Amino acid sequence: MPIYEYQCKKCGHEFEQLVIGQDCPACPECESKEVCRLMSCCGFVSKGAGGQTIASSASASSCSGCSASSCAGCGH
Ligand SMILES: [Zn+2]
Repeated sequence: MPIYEYQCKKCGHEFEQLVIGQDCPACPECESKEVCRLMSCCGFVSKGAGGQTIASSASASSCSGCSASSCAGCGH
């Protein structure tokens, strides 16, 4: 399942949200729905891990943006 990273436009809080369908998440800090989705792809790109995107376990299966060989989000 896709986990997307969001940033609240109102307070700047960043959070990850499991998105089912077209749900629009609300900021857990201020409950604003003015959030924008960040371009972290596949839910396995974590900050502080050196920025390395390792195509190991969950590479191609969980990104809704990944079609066969091109993904605008992660380049897969
Ligand atoms: Zn907020």
